[in-house]
Amino acid sequence: MNLLQGQDATCPHCGETINLTLDLSVPEQSYVEDCPVCCKPMLVSYTAADGEVAEFSVESAE
Ligand SMILES: [Zn+2]
Repeated sequence: MNLLQGQDATCPHCGETINLTLDLSVPEQSYVEDCPVCCKPMLVSYTAADGEVAEFSVESAE
């Protein structure tokens, strides 16, 4: 199963809206990704259930 879904998020550093691609075939993930606008690290974490986003959060990774 490969379920990729776009998810809008707000960067905790610069406040810009960014679009992340989530892999919903994995039930739980967290990883650090650099903001494409300000290049600062964000901790992206989410859970997925039945191919849908159940919980989603983005916070500062500094
Ligand atoms: Zn940013």
